[in-house]
Amino acid sequence: MHDMHNYSFASLLRHGINKHTTWPKAWRSPPLRDSYDVVIIGAGGHGLATAYYLAKEHGLTNIAVVERGWLGGGNIARNTITIRSNYMRDESIPFYVKSVALYEAMTRELNFNTMHSKRTMIDVIQNYPMMRDRRRRQHIMDIYGSTYEQISEAEVRKRIPALTGGGPDARLPVIGGMVHTDAAVNRHDAVAWGYARAIDAMGGEIHQQTAVESLVRGADGAIEGVQTNRGLIRAKKVAVAVSGHTTTLTETAGLTLPLRTMNLTAFVSEPVKPLVDVIVNCPDAGFYFSQSDKGEMVIGGAPDMGQSFRRDIKQHVFEDTVSAMLSLFPSFKKLKLMRQWGGHLDIAKDASPIMDETDVPGLFVTAGWWGGYKAIPAGGLTLAHLVATGRPHELMEAFTLKRFRHLDYVMETGTTTAR
Ligand SMILES: Cc1cc2nc3c(=O)[nH]c(=O)nc-3n(C[C@H](O)[C@H](O)[C@H](O)COP(=O)(O)OP(=O)(O)OC[C@H]3O[C@@H](n4cnc5c(N)ncnc54)[C@H](O)[C@@H]3O)c2cc1C
Repeated sequence: MHDMHNYSFASLLRHGINKHTTWPKAWRSPPLRDSYDVVIIGAGGHGLATAYYLAKEHGLTNIAVVERGWLGGGNIARNTITIRSNYMRDESIPFYVKSVALYEAMTRELNFNTMHSKRTMIDVIQNYPMMRDRRRRQHIMDIYGSTYEQISEAEVRKRIPALTGGGPDARLPVIGGMVHTDAAVNRHDAVAWGYARAIDAMGGEIHQQTAVESLVRGADGAIEGVQTNRGLIRAKKVAVAVSGHTTTLTETAGLTLPLRTMNLTAFVSEPVKPLVDVIVNCPDAGFYFSQSDKGEMVIGGAPDMGQSFRRDIKQHVFEDTVSAMLSLFPSFKKLKLMRQWGGHLDIAKDASPIMDETDVPGLFVTAGWWGGYKAIPAGGLTLAHLVATGRPHELMEAFTLKRFRHLDYVMETGTTTAR
């Protein structure tokens, strides 16, 4: 345990005088030991948040987060940073409400500027069944303290002036909107770096360039550790937090999970003057976007429905998303697109997460994170509770593997693209 350097205006001035050469390292790279109480695989959002809460809430600091690449370089770096709690089910909404609240407090809690920007999401609705579905959500969300409010077509157009398509002659005219004021965006690498700095200060270790090749079980079948490219690490508790690669790892312990891996993509435009100050979500058309602080339009669509581990973008998915966007925002045809990329997500049959201790004693998983960026703080909080106490946290009880034994699905669609 060592003191965390306090980031403040005064420290900025102090280090500025020294030409910024005196900043201490945000986290150490200690030697890798051959055993820990807990090994967490994957230094993405969920792995780091779990380590953070294990140390902070449960005093467990003999822990190592092992990462095959660099921390924060996985899907957390590939996502479009939409944070929201407009989910459908009684089981889901409180979980996401908690996550949004933890995100709002994160800059202060971690003393790291996550640039949290609470900017509201507006769903642009183009058919009546979708409107009914959203109104139904509104009533459930009301119970759990999340906000959703219906607005007229005229109000939608007033709040999003660039929305000039979808008029009365369109195949699907805009009929109204739903406003989710809790929705936000923030800076994904600050989230990863902020957690990493705090874990390190509390005594936890992060080992980058450390790839787990297989899970190791003892004679009794329980988890015994992990085989990595840097040797065997023993641990009685191992948590798999590797996002799209969950099944490739759990299969090494003879465990099959009800997950499929799919490719989800995004792309950004050149920076332009401020055009849209809310997150725009068009579930009927199948795309969403927000404008970054730099002015780029950050645009996403639906996942490619085929299973794959690809990290690029499929041409037809890209074309579908762009043509949907141009049908509602025709002036965007002048935008030059700068970059596009993809990531891979593992998705359960009901599109809800899986967080549980598996049939392999001591082996935990956090997976099925379809839109799992928004879930990072609550995911870490609740998985740490399970790992430390052996009991599911009340916010995630519905998300354990038990639901697949009894077909107690928590059916959730992706919400943004409604698939
Ligand atoms: C294009 C796109 C847009 C998205 N937009 C949103 C959005 O707007 N809002 C939202 O809520 N979610 C969004 N998501 C989903 C979100 O990014 C993921 O659900 C979430 O980041 C997954 O959790 P993670 O951060 O822990 O995963 P990751 O960042 O992928 O972390 C897993 C880590 O495990 C490491 N790893 C893998 N295998 C091994 C191994 N064998 N040994 C050691 N380490 C290993 C990886 O290198 C990686 O760093 C989006 C995803 C994509 C791809």
